[in-house]
Amino acid sequence: MSLLLGPMCQHIPGKKGLTDHSDVKRLMPAKEVYIPLFAGNNTQIELLVSEGDHVFIGTRLANTKSAFPVPLYSSVSGTVKGVTKRPHNSLKPQQHLVIELDEQQEAIQAFPPMDWHNASHDELVEFVKESGIIGQGGAGFPTYVKYQKVENINTLVINAVECEPYITADYKCVMDYPEQFVHGVRILQKMAEVDTVLIGVKKTHPDLINTIREEINREHAAGIEVREVPDVYPMGGERTLIRTLLKREYKRLPGECGVIVNNANTAILVARAFEMGQAQAKKYVTFSGEGLKYPTNVLVPVGMSVAEILEQIGGFVEKQESLKLIAGGPMMGKTMVSDQIVIDRAMNAITVLKNHDEEEMTCMRCGNCTQHCPIGLQPVRIANAVKMNDAEEMEKRGAMQCIECGLCTYVCPSHIQVTENVRKAKRTLMMKARKK
Ligand code: SF4
Ligand code: SF4
Repeated sequence: MSLLLGPMCQHIPGKKGLTDHSDVKRLMPAKEVYIPLFAGNNTQIELLVSEGDHVFIGTRLANTKSAFPVPLYSSVSGTVKGVTKRPHNSLKPQQHLVIELDEQQEAIQAFPPMDWHNASHDELVEFVKESGIIGQGGAGFPTYVKYQKVENINTLVINAVECEPYITADYKCVMDYPEQFVHGVRILQKMAEVDTVLIGVKKTHPDLINTIREEINREHAAGIEVREVPDVYPMGGERTLIRTLLKREYKRLPGECGVIVNNANTAILVARAFEMGQAQAKKYVTFSGEGLKYPTNVLVPVGMSVAEILEQIGGFVEKQESLKLIAGGPMMGKTMVSDQIVIDRAMNAITVLKNHDEEEMTCMRCGNCTQHCPIGLQPVRIANAVKMNDAEEMEKRGAMQCIECGLCTYVCPSHIQVTENVRKAKRTLMMKARKK
């Protein structure tokens, strides 16, 4: 950890204006969706359907088998065509279930709705588990896990900050469904057994702040409060948000300081599950960046290919070879290996930028990366340890705590891919841990 903590955050151009006030485009694939059958390296998938089966929107397709299992539901109605390997956001090809769409696009209740007002804590947690909801903040962790043990929790934080440049999918979704959002927050409040809920929203979104406040007042939702936060990056990181809202710190997980954090969009999924028996079928996804002719938000079924969406929204401003496609935003997203990857349940953006990567220069030991790291790490030292292949030093410098916010690369005047080096350090340490 650095002893000389600097600003630990930075104002960066949000570029939200490219998409935040245009209509959301509702798109459907021409023929098929490809539902990813991958939920992490140590997770097996138990398929519940076979080739030739007819499925509805909401049919249970599979269960994951891991320490934290969740079911997987269909995003479309149609016929199961089999399983195929395709490029995947994990950077390795993965198995996908192919479903050919029918014309009807008929939905069923994936599970019976539940009266959450009168349900016990355990019933609520079990319901969220069966509904298959995973966090919508990017990591895709099963939501119920955070709520299993709530004895030491006293505050729920709802993250509606969306601090990554270009991305406006959460903003659009909450603006479109404020009632469902507040219902979802109330359900999560009951499940966390807390009186205090803080909803973090950037002060640069007064319309969102007013919309949520009006809805809270209309619902007479006790204990739920909107808190305006500064327009700096990475304000949406759990650690930064908790520090800003509550002045609390933790080592590994927010639960250590009495807090559960959930993304705004997760709350909407929770409301739909409890009140309508709906599993997650569609996703709001921001397609933005200077490489696109018509940046926009889209609403698409999970499993629709990125290439098909790009084609339907008008494509690129120039040849794809000179562009960089990123799954996520430019700071935390991953460069895509192929446009054949599909929208999965946790993906919230595809960013397309003109590719002008600058040549790396020698480190000038300016200390910028250390000053800005929101975790208080010394990224340059971790990067050096990677160069020396010194796993002990990587561990000592706390590489595993890195949240991959991208700020160390962003502020580096020598154009060094510092974040990528810290990512490498994390991978090295994870492999070392697995071998033990
Ligand atoms: S990417 Fe990691 S090391 Fe770099 S600034 Fe962010 S948290 Fe710190
Ligand atoms: S910001 Fe770049 S140049 Fe400055 S110390 Fe860090 S790695 Fe070196």
